[in-house]
Amino acid sequence: MTAAVSGKDDPTILILNAGSSSIKFDLYAGEEELVRGQIEGLGATPRLQAKVLRSGLSTDRPLSADEAHDHQAALAIPLKLLEETAPGRTVQAVGHRVVHGGVDYAEPVVLDDAILAHLKRFNPLAPLHQPHNLAGILAARQAFPDALQVACFDTAFHRRHPWVNDTFALPREFYDEGVRRYGFHGLSYEYITETLRERMPEAASGRLVVAHLGNGASMCAIREGRSIGSTMGFTALDGLPMGTRCGQLDPGVVLYLMTEKGLSANDISDLLYKRSGLRGLSGLSHDMRELEASDTPEARQAIDYFVFRIRRELGAMAAVVGGLDTLVFTGGIGENSTTVRARVCEGLEWLGIRFDAGRNAAGESLISTNNSKVQVLVMRTNEEAMIRRHTARLFGQAGARP
Ligand code: ADP
Repeated sequence: MTAAVSGKDDPTILILNAGSSSIKFDLYAGEEELVRGQIEGLGATPRLQAKVLRSGLSTDRPLSADEAHDHQAALAIPLKLLEETAPGRTVQAVGHRVVHGGVDYAEPVVLDDAILAHLKRFNPLAPLHQPHNLAGILAARQAFPDALQVACFDTAFHRRHPWVNDTFALPREFYDEGVRRYGFHGLSYEYITETLRERMPEAASGRLVVAHLGNGASMCAIREGRSIGSTMGFTALDGLPMGTRCGQLDPGVVLYLMTEKGLSANDISDLLYKRSGLRGLSGLSHDMRELEASDTPEARQAIDYFVFRIRRELGAMAAVVGGLDTLVFTGGIGENSTTVRARVCEGLEWLGIRFDAGRNAAGESLISTNNSKVQVLVMRTNEEAMIRRHTARLFGQAGARP
């Protein structure tokens, strides 16, 4: 694919993904990606990693504490990089990744005060992400007061789930007040679906399951390009085990922790979000590369559990979607771990998967055999590109308004 080259009328768009101590950013002119970078260690020992796409030049250097003592200070850095790489350009729109859009947002929106206040209500539902996403928005409004601010939600792609996949079996008033199965990683699933639509339209319109396996991990059942089921629910804790999150858990365990162990809500939140998953099981690390390199039985068992749960959910997602035509692996683990992919796919001939170990080991994008009923693909996700597309569209519409 040839890289898009921007013209002077293409809007300059900054994509922001703000975390608690990090900001990932991308600068685009139209469809051309100018700079990609991240600042880590905000407020402590900050560090900048960035790449200028046209020249290929990379930076990896410590920042002074003053340069990045908070989100707002840190936003001077992408601005400076823009001045250096594309003099004369100013940021016209900022596209924000926002993890939770609740019931109301099935599409990206142009932000205003009322919407921001509404989004704050979801902080308790995604404590690892939502408050920091919103801090990034406030900082960007200060730093780029003239730019259009757009929120793109991880929940939006799932908002049209059939009711049975949207609810819990609780008294109905809970559903009405928003206790629902939202699903997350929607920007990744949307990107994969759109990419398939362009390159392999049959796969995009068929029965598709996508496994997004990164530090956060979930799976999505997609039919005719629409999400109809997700392993994640009300919060991003449910479903598959993750780097530090537990995944599916009997709610009775939470009651036991409260009543028998005397854990507070904060203690339980810390346990389930930060000390469980691969980290909790291995006692070693949340990071799949480290677990694969380790020979401790606990690291092996953590991977065993991860693989087991993916296979279990694959069966469930295939049932939701009414069979399976295409399985896609994506996310840091899905894109890179030949071992996890091989272990998930082995012995799944009953589901129509004939795995090609040679293609998988060679890093090819098609890792099933030519006569496999189910195509198994490895695809690189690009949530930032999805946010850029949405932001550019809303920027175009805003510009077209009288
Ligand atoms: P996030 O959800 O934070 O965006 P990523 O999608 O970047 O996370 O995925 C991070 C995970 O991908 C980590 O567990 C990391 O170890 C894993 N990963 C990255 N490269 C490899 C690799 N070559 N082999 C195995 N796992 C990998």
